[in-house]
Amino acid sequence: MTKCPFRVAIIGAGFGGIAAAVKLRKYTDVEYTIFEREAGVGGTWFINRYPGCEVDVHSHAYSFSFIKYDWPRTHGTQEELQQYADWVVDTFGIRPHIRFNTVIAQVRWFDEDAEYEVTTAAGDRERFNAVISAVGLLDVPNIPAWPGLDSFQGVTFHTSRWEHQHDLAGKRIAVVGTGSTAAQVVPALAPIAGELFVYQREPGWVRPKSQRPFTPRERWIYKHVPFAQRWSRAKIFWQSMRRANAHDVNSRRQRRMRAECEAHINRSVQDPEIRKALTPTYPYGCKRVVTASDYYPVFNRPNVTLVPHAVTSVTPTGIVDATGTERPVDVLVLSTGFQPTRFLVNIKVYGRDGIELHNVWKDRQSAFLGITVPGFPNFFILYGPNTNGATSVIAQLETQAAFAARAIRRLRRRRKSSVDTNPTAAEEFVRWIDHQLDKHASVWSAGCTNYYHDEHGANVTQWPRSHLLYALLARFTARWALRYS
Ligand code: NAP
Repeated sequence: MTKCPFRVAIIGAGFGGIAAAVKLRKYTDVEYTIFEREAGVGGTWFINRYPGCEVDVHSHAYSFSFIKYDWPRTHGTQEELQQYADWVVDTFGIRPHIRFNTVIAQVRWFDEDAEYEVTTAAGDRERFNAVISAVGLLDVPNIPAWPGLDSFQGVTFHTSRWEHQHDLAGKRIAVVGTGSTAAQVVPALAPIAGELFVYQREPGWVRPKSQRPFTPRERWIYKHVPFAQRWSRAKIFWQSMRRANAHDVNSRRQRRMRAECEAHINRSVQDPEIRKALTPTYPYGCKRVVTASDYYPVFNRPNVTLVPHAVTSVTPTGIVDATGTERPVDVLVLSTGFQPTRFLVNIKVYGRDGIELHNVWKDRQSAFLGITVPGFPNFFILYGPNTNGATSVIAQLETQAAFAARAIRRLRRRRKSSVDTNPTAAEEFVRWIDHQLDKHASVWSAGCTNYYHDEHGANVTQWPRSHLLYALLARFTARWALRYS
């Protein structure tokens, strides 16, 4: 290897940034700096602190594969995931490399030096040999443009920017949205709210979750028995792969998953009218399936009302729905999701010849394996286009981080200064993705509203196959796709 320093900037200290640091340590001898916008690590789990916040993927899958952890529950709460992120960071000595409260605004490639100039929002500039973006996908809140929203005189906030200073006890609260976040917020608010209105534009399919604490015996086994946690992880991935067969709308698995969810509604909700309003008419899996056991029973409570209509406007004192009915409320909680089809929206990335990434992406946001874009040497994207939706995002991030670290290792071993993507590989990849989406994931275009498609109608967020296939492709296609110079 050539001599240090080869410097890598990592943007974000969420699970992606942490994975990048660990993989760089494993595969290379480079120096790295992590720039983090917030005051702590954990990314989405640092920001999202709404009541009831916890992950809906099993802890043994929603964790790094490279280190065993003594999980207290089958599904980590926000606090537990935050603790886990801190623990991994400290276990691997990553914290001294992190610059907190630092926003990156721009990244510019200088071909003659084979370096990026990284510029913070405060205007500070620094040079790095490579950049790994780990800014996540579900970060920029989707704030609806309802007429009158600004005039609302009560309290309003988005779930991902929860304002904990307000006492919500006894208040009339409206939650707008019924996605995975709302399915956690609503059961947490129902016992304390005076009245709770849940505004549902289009219902989602909801599977039971079955979260519980691990028994002391289970914890002992997962801690001490070799491979027990790995075996549990493998089983979860296997089950998730089988459920993914339902992505074909005509499959038997599709019918089985719908039946499972319908039975869940029928078991949990007493009122037949509400059951009907909660039941989707489109195929299972078209929207991201919500996993929650305590969501449906909330609608049996006398203080909870399901409003199965879109919001059309907001008045200074209430919310108006599509039937024209206004309901006075004190608190308006926007559980309206994010803007995942706008990748790297807050960072300007300039590659070779000064071209800006969003210009390259004006017709279609794409990257080879969602990670590298031709013309942007030494730049790696974690959780980029078409990489969402395979069992555990942490596993995907780990794979992408390893891909980046191995590419940097090869660069160093070959004594080269830049690694770029073969344009043919990038084009072939998009063609392959679109084919796979058509063939294996017809459900995502099966007549519902979901957040996967861009303004041109292309599905730019979803990975249509298993995590295993993604990991294999990441391991074995790099030599074909990457060019070193
Ligand atoms: P989401 O799934 O995008 O749901 C947003 C909700 O807001 C939908 O019900 C949507 O209605 C509604 N909505 C959006 N704009 C609206 C408008 N203008 N008027 C009325 N309703 C509107 O967002 P989310 O629930 O925050 O979840 C986002 C993602 O975060 C999830 O898909 C998941 O990937 C992740 N997440 C994960 C976990 C976890 O445990 N792992 C937990 C929470 C979130 P329509 O359905 O009609 O569009």
